[in-house]
Amino acid sequence: MNHKLIDVLVCPLCKGELLFNKDEQELICRFDKLAYPVRDDIPVMLEGEARKVSAEELDKYA
Ligand SMILES: [Zn+2]
Repeated sequence: MNHKLIDVLVCPLCKGELLFNKDEQELICRFDKLAYPVRDDIPVMLEGEARKVSAEELDKYA
């Protein structure tokens, strides 16, 4: 995945910074508790495609 691309990616909802989870290929917004999928190296920045992330799970990314 293009790292420059990740640097400029922000959450479409809160415009906040995203964390990239390499293992799961997801971009995580800690504020909205959502994980956006990365499919075939393309981030899918759609709220409807995002997965809800629990508080416990977010602790792992802190
Ligand atoms: Zn957000």
